[in-house]
Amino acid sequence: DDLTELKWSKAPCRFCGTGCSVMVATKNDRIVATHGDNQAEVNRGLNCVKGYFLSKILYGRDRLTQPLLRKRNGQYDKEGDFEPVSWDEALDIMAEKFTRAIREHGPESVGMFGSGQWTVWEGYAASKLMKAGFRSNNLDPNARHCMASAVGGFARTFGMDEPMGVYDDIEHADAFVLWGSNMAEMHPILWTRVTDRRLSFPNTRVAVLSTYKHRSFDLADLPMVMTPNADIVILNYIANYIIQNDAVDRNFVDAHTHFVKGVEDIGYGLRPEDPRELAAQNNQSPNEWEDMSFEQFADYVRPYTLDRAAKESNVPKNRLEELARLYADPNKRVTTFWTMGVNQHTRGVWVNNLIYNLHLLTGKIATPGNSPFSLTGQPSACGTAREVGTFSHRLPAGLVVANEEHRAKAEKIWKLPAGTIPPKPGLHAVQQSRALKDGVLKVYWTQVTNNIQAGPNTQQETLPGWRNPEAFVIVSDIYPTASAQAADLILPAAGWVEKEGAYGNAERRTQFWHQLVNPPGDARSDLWQTMALAQRIKVADVWPQELLDQAPDMQDKTLYDILYRNGQVDAYPLDETHPDYDNFEANEFGYYVQKGLFEEYRQFGLGKGKDLAEFDRYHQERGLRWPVVNGQETLWRYREGSDPYVEAGTGFQFYGNPDNRARIFALPFEPPAESPDEQYPFWLSTGRVIEHWHTGSMTQRVPELHKAVPDALVYMNNEDARDQGFRRGSEVRLISRRGEVRLRVETRGRVSMPRGVVFVPFFDARHLINKVTLDATDPISKQTDFKKCAVRLELV
Ligand code: SF4
Repeated sequence: DDLTELKWSKAPCRFCGTGCSVMVATKNDRIVATHGDNQAEVNRGLNCVKGYFLSKILYGRDRLTQPLLRKRNGQYDKEGDFEPVSWDEALDIMAEKFTRAIREHGPESVGMFGSGQWTVWEGYAASKLMKAGFRSNNLDPNARHCMASAVGGFARTFGMDEPMGVYDDIEHADAFVLWGSNMAEMHPILWTRVTDRRLSFPNTRVAVLSTYKHRSFDLADLPMVMTPNADIVILNYIANYIIQNDAVDRNFVDAHTHFVKGVEDIGYGLRPEDPRELAAQNNQSPNEWEDMSFEQFADYVRPYTLDRAAKESNVPKNRLEELARLYADPNKRVTTFWTMGVNQHTRGVWVNNLIYNLHLLTGKIATPGNSPFSLTGQPSACGTAREVGTFSHRLPAGLVVANEEHRAKAEKIWKLPAGTIPPKPGLHAVQQSRALKDGVLKVYWTQVTNNIQAGPNTQQETLPGWRNPEAFVIVSDIYPTASAQAADLILPAAGWVEKEGAYGNAERRTQFWHQLVNPPGDARSDLWQTMALAQRIKVADVWPQELLDQAPDMQDKTLYDILYRNGQVDAYPLDETHPDYDNFEANEFGYYVQKGLFEEYRQFGLGKGKDLAEFDRYHQERGLRWPVVNGQETLWRYREGSDPYVEAGTGFQFYGNPDNRARIFALPFEPPAESPDEQYPFWLSTGRVIEHWHTGSMTQRVPELHKAVPDALVYMNNEDARDQGFRRGSEVRLISRRGEVRLRVETRGRVSMPRGVVFVPFFDARHLINKVTLDATDPISKQTDFKKCAVRLELV
């Protein structure tokens, strides 16, 4: 090929929350190559193995190219086979199903599920469609399974979501602590930066805590394998150590924090209904926070001794003490990273709070190298799932549906009558699956996610819900995933650079890309699909009369007018003379919808600590970290001189809280929802591998990645395997109280398991590990615990 014929353009990587930038080469309307972007601060020209194969992810042989509807004898039939239909037929039946469900059963009978793989404007449009158009808050993202506990942790400690630090912390830190994070496989490019720091500055220390040994342990100076769920005890022990050894930064603590005791006894949301959850609903449970003094906090953590931490975690005392010393040493700048080991936890929010406690007690926060840093899984977990309000309790820019003023603000920006947005939080991910099974949700639309494979307890809840004859389920995707195959209507989606997009990564960096190629066949972006459905549904058909009486001008309008024309219709016309005209698959709308939606969304965060730059700026940059004030991005938030929101002379202001102080929480150890016993003697933890992205729908279609890791295996301890009569490669049944799955045993390789713990990755639909997982959730964040349930193994 003549390389001069290639057109190179920038785009963020399609996969993880690291947010690497890549250069994409296109030729003849096809992506032909990618490489790491040398101009990108995040990855400095590097890519991991998934990023390396980005050019192949859209070209699997079974790309979906036309809508498919289950039919029998020419009619829709839940038990029929998929038949190709036109977009008109697909959208007509969707409009008819949504409208009828809302008329007959109310707005709470419809739901939508998305993910942090939506572009910013796709998530924003979905949020408007559901919360303002259908007036249903039953919208949730896959981030509920991934980042909800991090969101809860930020909200409780700082009153505001997302990290105060940035990736630049890596080049300043003297110590790194990984809690429940395998960065070497899950955030590999950041791990190269950590490795570079460690090897270039030999005094740097790396501590890694996990329930089994993984590749991140290769760099660990302080490796620690702990008993599942022992993290709360260890974290309280370290707080106790810091206090007992006079390592508290009292100036910082007195000026910028206050202590609270917050025990929420709400239960883990299990079926049959958890009695503690029912009690909390009846207000019989004390969920208030109590202020406490420093001395009371010191008394609270005093019982968390080294002896107790060592006994409950099974980590040697000298290692725990060395870990505590890293935090306590005033001369060490500490950056703590965590991911799913912390968030996918029945007390995930608490563990987030307890990590912040250590940084707040020592004043090691919001300065270069001192950073409690929650890493995200999905490419736009922050930018879309969290920031534009796709959680069932949220609105854009951190507003929540339960707050009257917040709803009023959203209604004002969206130019809608007061009372349009319902105040009750909608169904979260696990509740949505149950509501489908119970016949409460009648119409359900998922985009950019694969919940049949990624959601918990699939065999008992999710799959029966989707196949409930009372439910009409629509799946938009680029490939026929397990979810698509369980749906009633499949919509072919455009992927990655087949559409214009924006993602927000883990360090608050918003990154844009242009549409570079056309999608195949009749595939369309999720934004186009949302807008096209909205065009077909009249406001008068889904809104109650009393609301229409308040807004007679809405009588003849469609939901499309709510999504777009009611907001920014005049600002961004698009016709053939527009310089970007050819860039849009959605130009048939006649407006630059992406720009209009983004500029409208931007209004939510301006002046509120979440300022975004103007739309066009992002197309020129390799991303900007918000808040962007006077054209400047912000690196360390909450610190004077770095964050424009912090007043001069204050040093630090945690301005998400009304008193500008961060909260230090007193929280106790709590047992998990399920533990091994005689019948089910092993802990099961699920997760990912570097070669595959989540459910593998894209990476398994890349031949090189598929060949590298073709099957999910059950990784277990060699002696455990021998005791069970297994050999390496034995086929076994892995059984829980909820289901079973067949797998082959692996006792070597990428992980090294302690006795009593097994690990299975979830990328492989043929070995659907989520048939056996437990759908217990954190009581505050409602995030699922995929890291702890009890199983047994039997030879096939
Ligand atoms: Fe893509 Fe993440 Fe790999 Fe970077 S680290 S290339 S964002 S998958």
